[in-house]
Amino acid sequence: MGEFDLIARYFTRPTTRAVLGVGDDCALLQPAAGMQMAISCDMLVEGRHFFADVDPFTLGHKALAVNLSDLAACGAQPVAFTLALALPRADEAWLAAFSRGLFALADAHGCELVGGDTTQGPLNICITVFGEVPRGQALLRSGARDGDEVYVSGTLGEARLALEALRGSVALPHGRLAAARMRLEQPTPRVALGLALRGIATAAIDVSDGLLGDLGHILEASGTGARIDTSVAINLLADGADTTRAEGHFSHETRLRCVLAGGDDYELAFTAPVSARAAVQAAALQAQTAVTRIGVIEHPPGLRLVDASGHAVPGRYASFDHFA
Ligand code: ADP
Ligand code: MG
Repeated sequence: MGEFDLIARYFTRPTTRAVLGVGDDCALLQPAAGMQMAISCDMLVEGRHFFADVDPFTLGHKALAVNLSDLAACGAQPVAFTLALALPRADEAWLAAFSRGLFALADAHGCELVGGDTTQGPLNICITVFGEVPRGQALLRSGARDGDEVYVSGTLGEARLALEALRGSVALPHGRLAAARMRLEQPTPRVALGLALRGIATAAIDVSDGLLGDLGHILEASGTGARIDTSVAINLLADGADTTRAEGHFSHETRLRCVLAGGDDYELAFTAPVSARAAVQAAALQAQTAVTRIGVIEHPPGLRLVDASGHAVPGRYASFDHFA
């Protein structure tokens, strides 16, 4: 199978929203009146972001999910994406499963594949997504203000827990590992929540490298600081009861580390004023995504971790950094 057969068979589908899709030198998109385009690009590299033997269906899902998560963080509606793919060989079973995983998620969000590039080489997947947001309404990192409250969607730390279990550094019961592994391999981008938070959240980011590091980006962009209650945050690791049973393998410290600095969560961290509490809950309900209030924005700059009684919690929780 040649390059063009491969593209035709696995990556060419009729488009409905895009003016022109796969097959010409460029795709054509027509933003609706009054809309701005939100654009983001994320690359997945074998050995760095996924294991060589990962299920290609889940890999197709994740490659798009991590990109949709960036649109979610901006409050943008997904429209289209491009796919740049380096493949060691044209393995049809692999391609069929990869494209099924990719298109299942794409279809769920009405996001069309409109172009890309295909080359032979070490497995590498680079997707660029295009979304729409009404002019001036994109959620940015820079809007957090002192007195705002800090929220996180869903649960945190599951993906890291799965990674540690797959590496053999923590022991997890079988069912628990399966659930955590779903979070690692098939994350759910919080697109509906991002859309519902437009006009409510003052700042937002998606948690990809670890909560504290990503929250740090909001604080830096907004020029302020935050206090985070670790006694609330630790419960963001789902099914806490289970971890008590596994104690010994799985300390309080490990749990906290997974929640605060785990990475690969693809939840949204955002800020909103106290006066918007009801609006935040309504947005969460509308998006069918739980949100938890974990702290407040306050001066001075920097992150302060406290326990339930407000005492400082020691410890450093570094986020993932490819070059650190
Ligand atoms: P060009 O040489 O003009 O860059 P290519 O020969 O690389 O074009 O690709 C031919 C067409 O197939 C283009 O429309 C391109 O966008 C599309 N395409 C190539 N690879 C992919 C892919 N992996 N997924 C979707 N579309 C692709
Ligand atoms: Mg090309």
